[in-house]
Amino acid sequence: MNSDLKFTSEIKNKTEKLYKKIEGTIPKIEWPTVAPYIYEINKLKKEKGVTILAHNYQTPEIYYGVADIVGDSLGLAIDGDKVKTDKILMCGVHFMAETAKIMSPEKKILLPDFSAGCSLAESITADDVRKLKKDNPGIPVVTYVNTSADVKAETDICCTSANAVKIIESLNVDKVIFLPDEYLAKYVASKTSVKIISWNGKCEVHEQFTDKEIIELRKKYPNLKVVSHPECPPDVIKASDYTGSTGSMINYVKNTNAKDIFLVTECSMSDNIQIENPNINFVKPCNLCPHMKKITLQGILKSLKEENNYIEIDKKIIQRARGAIERMIAVGR
Ligand code: SF4
Repeated sequence: MNSDLKFTSEIKNKTEKLYKKIEGTIPKIEWPTVAPYIYEINKLKKEKGVTILAHNYQTPEIYYGVADIVGDSLGLAIDGDKVKTDKILMCGVHFMAETAKIMSPEKKILLPDFSAGCSLAESITADDVRKLKKDNPGIPVVTYVNTSADVKAETDICCTSANAVKIIESLNVDKVIFLPDEYLAKYVASKTSVKIISWNGKCEVHEQFTDKEIIELRKKYPNLKVVSHPECPPDVIKASDYTGSTGSMINYVKNTNAKDIFLVTECSMSDNIQIENPNINFVKPCNLCPHMKKITLQGILKSLKEENNYIEIDKKIIQRARGAIERMIAVGR
């Protein structure tokens, strides 16, 4: 951490309430190096008129410390469009910043680290989609939001993990091309009679979970509730009590009486939900997304100061990609 930033008594007082909230996730000895960044970022974002968006997989010091809006990637892009500031800083990965730019083309979208990618988004290119369309003429293309702007532009309609089944069924067709997540495609296929042509993309975080670890954990915690994300492999979904998007996982936790919960998703989400639900024991075999973790307080402060790393997308691509998202929104989030 930058030695220029001092943990002054003013910063200590102004960040005390926040520390009390997130103290379970940051050792006390580290707070004097973390708090000055949070203080500086919050001061600078106000001075420069920047709204900070943070994905559910960001660490608690970002999620609770500096973000103005938190949520899933699509929610952030849609909410980002409603904010009054001309600049947005995305604490998330590259495709999320691109999606925010698609929804708010007139705004400057900052991304602290352009190397924050995503194994799913990088599994497919616009050329791949064009070839799939050529090989399957007339079959509509439904694309998960975890894709690049170029891929969205080749798409008939976007979807999220929450609305994928609804979107597919809204098309009134027998068959769709569903991209790029193979496991999400399998999950969706189990919920609809529409035939799915899938791609072989995978989330490198969710694919690591196994049903074996769930079976072992259930021995240790007999009343354990297992809540998985549909990007997980089918055996994990089968071994779960509930499967849903990050938003529905959060709602599940809010409405359950369970004492022990295993959220089968990126680890920081459990940390963030734990803070709001201190009486629940979140069992955590921890899988972190290496791309999400490239976003740090130091990187956010640098990005705010320099404003160098901002998203640029060709206007025509924005227009076509936005069409795919708007068609999805018209069906329902
Ligand atoms: S958690 Fe998976 S889907 Fe999300 S950004 Fe990381 S690699 Fe991509």
